[in-house]
Amino acid sequence: MAIDLVSRREWGARKPRGSYTPINSTRGVKVHYTGGRVDPGIVNDHARCVTLMKSIQNQHMDGNGWMDIGYSMVACPHRKVFEGRGPKRLPAANGAGLNGGHYAVLALVGSSGLVQPTDEILNAVLDAVEYLRARGGAGREIKGHRDGYATSCPGDRLYAWVRRGAPRPGGAPDPPDPHPSFPGRTLKYPPVMVGEDVRTWQRQMSERGWDIDVDGLYGERSREVCRGFQQEKDLAVTGAVNRATWNAAWQEPVT
Ligand SMILES: [Zn+2]
Ligand SMILES: [Zn+2]
Repeated sequence: MAIDLVSRREWGARKPRGSYTPINSTRGVKVHYTGGRVDPGIVNDHARCVTLMKSIQNQHMDGNGWMDIGYSMVACPHRKVFEGRGPKRLPAANGAGLNGGHYAVLALVGSSGLVQPTDEILNAVLDAVEYLRARGGAGREIKGHRDGYATSCPGDRLYAWVRRGAPRPGGAPDPPDPHPSFPGRTLKYPPVMVGEDVRTWQRQMSERGWDIDVDGLYGERSREVCRGFQQEKDLAVTGAVNRATWNAAWQEPVT
């Protein structure tokens, strides 16, 4: 489904007070919530999303003294994506020093009232992310505002979704693994295990029968599983997924 974009003209944005700082690319996107109360009634009334957008822009320009709304894009409960500063322009909402690294995408949920992001909102966030990747050189990262900055944003519920890897809600089940696990086929060992690579390894260990969360985070449980597996395979027990450990995960278990 193509992005349902609400242009600045369509939502009646004020003109920016100055010129934007251009950027070519970012490592990805940071997700935000409003931090205040969002009237649950907006779910049934898109006109209220527009009103909320205007008030956020006013708050950022008049309250914070920013030249424009601080967000790059804003996702509403009607799976529409409002154009904020847009791609290729430095956002302001991530915190000083953190704006060049990530675009800022706001989801219209708050700390009270509408706190649970609906599927429509999550889909709109991902529509915005894809748009920023296509038009703004955004990288693969999807993080929360609280990553690297002391804030409750984007709220526990939205942040939990971010930590799960920001999956499409109710989306297609995982596509069949294009790399049959057995026998003898290995997935290429990544130079650095990050994000999806961690998830790939965890999924493989889970399929091998290890009790492990496939969360993309290489935490204490992942280290334990790694050590146990290394022991089982007579590998150096380091707790780190080195090349030998990675490859062994795709070798046929000895029965
Ligand atoms: Zn935020
Ligand atoms: Zn809306």
